[in-house]
Amino acid sequence: MKNAATKRKNEKGATNVTATGSTPSNFIRDIIVEDLKTDKYGGRVHTRFPPEPNGYLHIGHAKSICLNFGLAADYGGLCNLRFDDTNPSKEEAEYVESIQEDIRWLGFDWDDRLFYASDYFEQLYEYAVQLIEKGKAYVCDLSAEEIREYRGTLTEPGKDSPYRERSVEENLDLFERMRAGEFEDGSRVLRAKIDMASPNMIMRDPVIYRILRATHHRTGDKWCIYPMYDFTHCLSDSIEGITHSICTLEFENNRPLYDWVLDELNVYHPQQIEFARLNLSYTVMSKRKLLELVEGGYVTGWDDPRLPAISGLRRRGYTPEAIRDFCDRIGVAKSNSTVDITLLEHCVRQDLDRRTPRVMAVLRPLRVVIDNYPEDRVEELDAVNHPGDSSMGLRKVPFSRVLYIEREDFREDPPKKYFRLAPGREVRLKHAYLITCVRVVKDERTGEVVELHCTYDPETRGGVTPDGRKVRGTLHWVSAAHALEVEVRLYDYLFTKANPYDVEEGSDFKASLNPNSLVTLTSCRVEPSLGGAQPGNRYQFMRKGYFCVDPDSSDGALVFNRTVSLRDSWAKIEKAQKKKGK
Ligand code: ATP
Ligand code: MG
Repeated sequence: MKNAATKRKNEKGATNVTATGSTPSNFIRDIIVEDLKTDKYGGRVHTRFPPEPNGYLHIGHAKSICLNFGLAADYGGLCNLRFDDTNPSKEEAEYVESIQEDIRWLGFDWDDRLFYASDYFEQLYEYAVQLIEKGKAYVCDLSAEEIREYRGTLTEPGKDSPYRERSVEENLDLFERMRAGEFEDGSRVLRAKIDMASPNMIMRDPVIYRILRATHHRTGDKWCIYPMYDFTHCLSDSIEGITHSICTLEFENNRPLYDWVLDELNVYHPQQIEFARLNLSYTVMSKRKLLELVEGGYVTGWDDPRLPAISGLRRRGYTPEAIRDFCDRIGVAKSNSTVDITLLEHCVRQDLDRRTPRVMAVLRPLRVVIDNYPEDRVEELDAVNHPGDSSMGLRKVPFSRVLYIEREDFREDPPKKYFRLAPGREVRLKHAYLITCVRVVKDERTGEVVELHCTYDPETRGGVTPDGRKVRGTLHWVSAAHALEVEVRLYDYLFTKANPYDVEEGSDFKASLNPNSLVTLTSCRVEPSLGGAQPGNRYQFMRKGYFCVDPDSSDGALVFNRTVSLRDSWAKIEKAQKKKGK
């Protein structure tokens, strides 16, 4: 089987990350290979991705999507998309739409296999009736609170409900009348009759139907009883002929119930397999938490580029390839752990490195006047779009007497190893000439540097030095008269802590929010070749990072999101110097 030879395990049981980006083996692949060998499902591999439409998908879901759709693709099988829509009060059509858009964007397709658990409501009702007829389910009149009390604890067995021994006839009658709307919401439930003393709390007569008058996004007001997740999920898998029902670890304790329902009803029985959910440092992942941030106005929406939602990552400039590569590299393990967010950044950097054209953008402009360059002259200089990919071609960049460079590329009093511009210092302007700083103009009041005067060496066009002299610094720049003024949004982690839940007693994860997660720069300058940029277009701003055009852009007013910075070599040197006390 594919990549079986690359299989290596680390101490946590996770499959090792491979540098190739190809899919390594893992314990789920091992199970599938074994099942194919023993012909357990007649050679079939059929998985499903079963989101609850109660929010937008996040990068954790991407892991599950890549796994389920990826396994199906690799073993010649099928993967269904199934909405687990049994909770009408929290579910919305908006989410159904966005989930489909996100899965397609990630590069996966369910063909004609789009299902809804709500498609099966009638059939699930019939199954519930069968359980009642078998004496394996009963209508219980205890309140939710009483059910909790009767359930016992981890150390104490539960108590039987006083309604547990109702006759089959009475149960059938009551369940039918529950459906007919004769009873109040919450006044009765249908419970599986299993074992109130089971060491697994989930097996203590779990509720499988409840009364709830809420309009469902698909079935409207047809139903006032709704099946619970544990009853619905296994039967939906069974109805669809799923072979491997892959879910996250927290459902391990639910597996006996999954098996119990299918065995009692004597129907086709898929195998549930649990894997560790993705946790990312500096990130909260649950839809409920993300919804809280969206509804509380802590972010601008589900597509806020700081959120780990797929729509946020897309707007931020992430590519589906980068996310799929990330999901491949993190592998699939049987124990929970937290992945370092820098791995995700590494994946997107690597993908954008090969696909984006390089352009020059000055985020915090400092004016530079080239004293010996003629006032009315403009040169169109050749610039390569990608140093490693000549197929991306050349473009023209205008050069003139007044330029902007990055403020941080000038220091009046340059520290050691700072090779950028300083008084009397010569540097190279990318694609252009060597310039030397001859004068510094300051604001008289504040002392702030407001303008530099430089001279250029006409012999160095294209950055060459005919006399062979060495110049270490190369700066990006734009021509002041030609540059476009744009807005740039710089994002940092949404949380200040690797574990956002690590907060003082009495506060919640929102106490870890990073007040500086968004910095908006409004008078940035980019080279004129970006004039026609469209939302979603991606670039490398030389020496600054990867950026993409935000949909907030309008004609003549571009807005860029920083997807990810380049590794900043100077910041690293400076940090090291500070450490050494230099
Ligand atoms: P959340 O807590 O974010 O709402 P969920 O598990 O309730 O997550 P579902 O819509 O039920 O969300 O998830 C659909 C599928 O995605 C499930 O199979 C679930 O196991 C999987 N999934 C959800 N979160 C993660 C994650 N962080 N890592 C891997 N898989 C995940
Ligand atoms: Mg859920």
